[in-house]
Parts: sequence; structure tokens; C-alpha cells
Amino acid sequence: MKIGFIGLGNMGGPMAANLAKAGHEVTGFDMADVSIEGVTMAASGPEAAAGADAVITMLPNGAILRLVAAEVIPAMAKGAALIDCSTVDVDSARAVAGQAADAGLMFVDAPVSGGIGGAAGGTLTFMAGGSAEAFAAAEPLFGIMGQKAVHCGEAGAGQAAKICNNMILGVTMIATCEAFALADKLGLDRQKMFDVVSTSSGYSWSMNAYCPAPGVGPQSPADNSYQPGFAAELMLKDLGLSQQAAASADADTPMGELAMALYKKFVEEEGGKGMDFSAMLPRFEKRGRAG
Ligand code: NAD
Repeated sequence: MKIGFIGLGNMGGPMAANLAKAGHEVTGFDMADVSIEGVTMAASGPEAAAGADAVITMLPNGAILRLVAAEVIPAMAKGAALIDCSTVDVDSARAVAGQAADAGLMFVDAPVSGGIGGAAGGTLTFMAGGSAEAFAAAEPLFGIMGQKAVHCGEAGAGQAAKICNNMILGVTMIATCEAFALADKLGLDRQKMFDVVSTSSGYSWSMNAYCPAPGVGPQSPADNSYQPGFAAELMLKDLGLSQQAAASADADTPMGELAMALYKKFVEEEGGKGMDFSAMLPRFEKRGRAG
């Protein structure tokens, strides 16, 4: 297939490289001056999109997605598929889906889970929203860039699934970190704490797969001085999207709201910017009940 790929950053770069490696003809565009193995660079988004069977976007946020989509959609051939893999707000995903439909294009919102390692290794999970036809068109590409793709429903459903998942992740990471800090103060050995919780009812992905305590559990950013991984500011972005969605849907999400407030303080006032989101543990270590 001829594929246009716009947004070749930490995630988009390796995803585009994997498509090229699998034999697709990939033309890329990024505002920054980047080069990706096997990918021909274009001078603009519309140039990368012209004549493509599918255009994939992997951009920082919904406002940028809307700008890029407004330029790229008119350049795309009727019947082609626009696949947005960025994490954006549900409203932006639905707005772009509407514009794509008006132009006779297929659209899938397909945010990913799995991080930079998953992007490089082709093991991402895609959660997709869009028509059955659009999902079917995108599925072979998901198969190259990832190991699992779930069709969640109509346009916007992929983003809805992503922000619900990451709201759980933010809350469980905080809960895991505060429990480790409490265990420390109670004199409990961290390895024993891990051995018990990882096989008891307190287990979660945050504890079992991404343990925030250095030297305990599987290798994680905690073992690398909390270098991301998944940066605290990206978690803050996703928690913000979850609360934006909760407000517009009139959903009560007190834990999500508190997790957002804690990550906001961590990123903006407590030196958490540029740290992995699991660096909440050293934050709690330093604190007492009075803060
Ligand atoms: P990134 O900042 O590394 O990459 C974004 C790229 O988009 C940059 O190279 C930037 O130059 C480019 N860009 C910005 N505006 C543009 C424009 N108008 N036209 C063309 N290119 C433009 O970010 P990333 O880590 O690759 O994340 C991309 C998306 O994936 C985000 O929505 C993020 O929330 C999501 N995501 C990231 C991770 C992760 O672990 N990094 C995991 C899951 C999802």
C-alpha cells in the first residue's frame, strides 16, 4: 500500500519504520527535521497524503490533529482511509471523522497502548473507533505496528477506551506508590511488599509490570532513575482528557479528578516534568501527612 505518515516523533517514527520494513511504500512528514529508515520524506502534510491509500497521523494533541486534518483531507483520494493514532479528546476525533466522511474518506481513531517499546517492537495495542469497513481497511496495518487491535465502536470509541484505560492507570499508579511509601514507614521490606501484593488482590499492571520501586519486580523506569518510559506530563495530558470527557458526559469521576490534581502539582510544582509517571514513589517517600 501507499501510506502517508504525519508526525514522526518518538512513537510515529518507529511505527512508520515498521510499515516500511514490511514492504509498504511510506511517505512521511514532520514539522521537525527527521529521517526515518525506509521512509521517503515529503515537504508538507498534503504532499505526503496525495495518492495514498491510507494516511496515518501520530500527533501531540487534538488541536494539532484538527489543523493537520484540515490540510490533509482535501489532498486525499476518495475512498482512502485516514487513521489517527494520536491520543486526543473525543470531540476532536469525532469532528475529524465528520470532515473525513464529508470528503468521502474512511476514518478510524486508533490510539495506542504500549509506549515507545511497543512502537519499536511492533507490539502496540490499538483501540479503534469507526465503521466496520474503515476498521477492516486499517486492520492489516495495525497487524504490522501492533499485536492486538480492538474495534471498540463508532468514531470516538477508540479515544473513549484509551482515556478510560489511562484514568485507571493514573489512579492505580498513585495508589501503588502511596502504598509503597506507607509500607516503608511501617518497616516493611519492599521486596516482601512486592511478593505479597503482586500475587494478592492489590495487584495491578502498575505493580506487576511497571513496579515503581527500583530493584523490585520486572525492569521498569524506576531502575533507570525514572527516565521515561511514559512521562508524567503525558499522564497529566491523558487525565485531563478523561476529566474533559467526564465533564461533557456528566460522569462522576472523583478518583480520576484527584489523580489529575496530583499529577498537575507533580509536573508543575514538584519537579516531575521529564520524569516517568512512576516517579510518584520518590515524591511520596519525601512526604508526611501534612505534605
Ligand atoms: P512526540 O512529541 O515525540 O511526536 C509528535 C511529533 O509530531 C513530533 O515529531 C512533532 O514534530 C510532530 N508534529 C507536531 N505538529 C505537527 C504538524 N503540524 N505537522 C507535522 N508534524 C507535527 O510525541 P509521541 O511520544 O510520539 O506521542 C504522539 C502521540 O502518541 C501523542 O498523542 C501521545 O499522547 C500518544 N502516545 C504516546 C505514548 C508514549 O509513550 N510516548 C504512548 C501512547 C500514546
